Amino acid sequence: MVQQFDAIVIGVGGFGSSALYHLAERGQRVLGLEQFGVAHDRGSSHGETRIIRQAYFEHVNYVPLLQRAYELWDRMSDFVGKTLFHRCGLMLSGPGESEVLAGTQRAADQYHLNVEELSLAAAAQRFPCYRFPDNFRVLFERNAGFLDVEDCVAGHIRMATAKGAVLRTQERVLNYVVEGDSVRVETDRETYLAGRLIVTAGPWASRILGELGVPLRVVRKPLFWFPAAEPQFQRAIGNPTFFFDLPEGQFYGFPALGSDVIKVAEHTGGDLVADPTHVDREFHASDLERLVPFLTAHLPQVVPRPRKHSVCMYTLSPDHHFVIDRHPEQPQVVFGAGFSGHGFKFTTVIGEALAELALDGVSRQPIEFLNLSRFQTETE
Ligand SMILES: Cc1cc2nc3c(=O)[nH]c(=O)nc-3n(C[C@H](O)[C@H](O)[C@H](O)COP(=O)(O)OP(=O)(O)OC[C@H]3O[C@@H](n4cnc5c(N)ncnc54)[C@H](O)[C@@H]3O)c2cc1C
Repeated sequence: MVQQFDAIVIGVGGFGSSALYHLAERGQRVLGLEQFGVAHDRGSSHGETRIIRQAYFEHVNYVPLLQRAYELWDRMSDFVGKTLFHRCGLMLSGPGESEVLAGTQRAADQYHLNVEELSLAAAAQRFPCYRFPDNFRVLFERNAGFLDVEDCVAGHIRMATAKGAVLRTQERVLNYVVEGDSVRVETDRETYLAGRLIVTAGPWASRILGELGVPLRVVRKPLFWFPAAEPQFQRAIGNPTFFFDLPEGQFYGFPALGSDVIKVAEHTGGDLVADPTHVDREFHASDLERLVPFLTAHLPQVVPRPRKHSVCMYTLSPDHHFVIDRHPEQPQVVFGAGFSGHGFKFTTVIGEALAELALDGVSRQPIEFLNLSRFQTETE
C-alpha cells in the first residue's frame, strides 16, 4: 500500500528539518526523508558552529528575515531547554576600502543595528589575539555570535516529531513524479504520495535547479581546529566570532569554547565537487596554503598546525544568493537551494517560509528577492 501524507520533505538537514517542523506545527501529516542520519556530517550542516549576524553585507534585504530568524532561534532554545544561539558578538576587520565592512555599516545604519566602529588602539586592547595593520578598520556587531549547528538541526527534528512529523532516515529518494494534484515519491525502500513536496537537498539539489536553468556549483570546504592556548582566545572572557575581509581572501573563526583550540576556515575559494556523496574528506597539506599565512599575519599566537579537520560543502548559486520558490510548472513542489555558504543562520525563518509557500502559495516573509525570476530576467 502506498503511504499518503499531506506533505513530504526531501532532505532533512539544515533547512529540511526546519521546514518539517513548520509543516507539522501547522497540523500537516508530514514525512521527512533523509538519506543519512539525524544531524549527520556528510552534507553542509556540521562542524560544531555557524556564525549568526544581522548587519548583512551580502544584501540589505536579508535583514528583516534575520529579525524573524532571531525570534525563532530563541523559541527553539526555549523548547530544547538550552542556549543554541551564543551572543558573543562578531568582530569584522579589513582594509579601509573593504566592501564587506561598508556593506555591514550600510545594513546597520538602515536598520539601526548595534554595530560599533573601534579605533585600532581600542580594538587591539579589547581583542588582544588579533593583529590589525594600520590601514584596517574594525567593526563590532554586538547582537551576533554563533549557533551550535548539529544541536540546531536535531532541535528542529525534535520539535517536528513532537508535533507528529514522521522521519525516515537512511532512506534515499530516487525520484519524484507529479501526478495530477499530488506527488509520488520513490525511495530506495518505498513509494509515498503527498499533496505537497518541499525539496531541501543541499549539495544534492542540482537536479531540480538544473532542470530550471539555474546551475549550482558545489565546492569543498575544509575547516580546521588549531591550538590556541592563551586565555584571551576564550569566549568566556569576551573573545567574539571574527571575520577578516582581505584582498587575498575572506577568513573567519570562532572563540575557544572552554578547550584550547579555535575553529578557523576560509570563506572564499574551494575546489569543485563533482559528486557530493563522494567529496574528498581527507586532509591535504595544500588545504592550509592560504590559511596559514592568514593566521601568521592576523592571529600570531595560534599554532598553525591543526589538531583536527572536517570537510563540508557550499552549494553556490550563480549570484551567491539563495534560490527559494515554487516550481513554475509544478505548483505543489517548493524548493530551497543554493544557500551559498551563508544559509545556516536563516534555517529557522526559511523553513517557515517554505512551509508557507507549500501550504498557502505565498510566504509572509519578504523572500521575493530570492525567487527564480531574477535569473529569467537576466537571460531574457
Ligand atoms: C564549512 C561551512 C561553514 C559555514 N559557515 C556558515 C556560517 O558561519 N553561517 C551561516 O549562516 N552559514 C554557514 N554555512 C552555510 C550553511 O551551513 C548552509 O547554507 C546550510 O547548512 C545548508 O543547509 P541545507 O539544508 O541546504 O543542506 P544540508 O544540511 O546538507 O541538508 C541537505 C540534506 O538533504 C539530504 N538529501 C539530499 N538528497 C537526498 C535524497 N535524494 N534523499 C534523501 N535525502 C537527501 C542530505 O543527506 C542532507 O541531509 C557554512 C557551510 C559550510 C560548509
